[in-house]
Amino acid sequence: MQLDQLYRTVIMDHYKRPHNVGELGDGAWNVHMHNPTCGDRIVLSLDVRDGVVERAKFRGEGCSISIASASMMTDAIRGCSIDDALGLAERFSALMQGEDVSFETAEDIEALRGVTQFPARIKCAMLPWSALKKAVTQPREEGGAS
Ligand code: ZN
Repeated sequence: MQLDQLYRTVIMDHYKRPHNVGELGDGAWNVHMHNPTCGDRIVLSLDVRDGVVERAKFRGEGCSISIASASMMTDAIRGCSIDDALGLAERFSALMQGEDVSFETAEDIEALRGVTQFPARIKCAMLPWSALKKAVTQPREEGGAS
């Protein structure tokens, strides 16, 4: 099916040339996440100012789905408020549950819709989004040390 082929191409492009790879320096919100069922690992690094995700970077090791998802997510959440970023995470969860969700400003994400046909891989796709939720909900020191 042609659409499947298109989705696969989008995913492989993000996997081979992932966007936003790296770590942000002091003051960044860093979170480690591990998906034991596949062995995927991610370190997500967010630069959040006044409740807005100014920058998002990641380092990942793992399968094509987890890396592509992290690449797409870090593109999508840049410039979003925390609430909007969490809203995207909710919509991504819905997408992974087979709901008909669209991502107007980040339509590459829709390429991961095909993952719903492979339930074992859903955790791979969810990994960066789980890291995002953990990063923005975990307690942290405000206006911390310099
Ligand atoms: Zn995986």
